[in-house]
Amino acid sequence: MTQQPLHDACLLCATEDAEDASVVFRDELWAAEIVPGYEVPGWIILRARRHAERITGLSDEELDSFGRRARDLVAAVSEVMDAPSTYLLVFGENYPHFHVLVAPRGAHVPSDRRAGDILKLRLESADALAARALVPALRAALARALPRGVAAEAG
Ligand SMILES: [Zn+2]
Repeated sequence: MTQQPLHDACLLCATEDAEDASVVFRDELWAAEIVPGYEVPGWIILRARRHAERITGLSDEELDSFGRRARDLVAAVSEVMDAPSTYLLVFGENYPHFHVLVAPRGAHVPSDRRAGDILKLRLESADALAARALVPALRAALARALPRGVAAEAG
């Protein structure tokens, strides 16, 4: 019996094949994309490019860059969505491949959909077309965030 390739077994690995319209950011180690099932406008999944399981499976190089990528993505998403708060959620229950849901919480989001209850929006507010329509603005905001981040690190 042959072993099933990781790419077929892992939704996060399969996201390597995402269409360009869903990709906000990619570098050698990290990718940020809109993922099917989480298509709430503004919601982005930041994931390790390689199949590394849970935060404990990340390499030193991945750990060193993770905070900067998460920070820059939160800055970009918060700006584009005009969100007073942006959440970072990590579960890894169904897919241990390390990934973080970046979920902006806009001012219009009612109190019973804030904090952990924001996940109720996953089905209530899914809109794949609207989510993808934000990608160009998110890319532009991220491009502005990256040089600022580099400057802050140098200073
Ligand atoms: Zn994977």
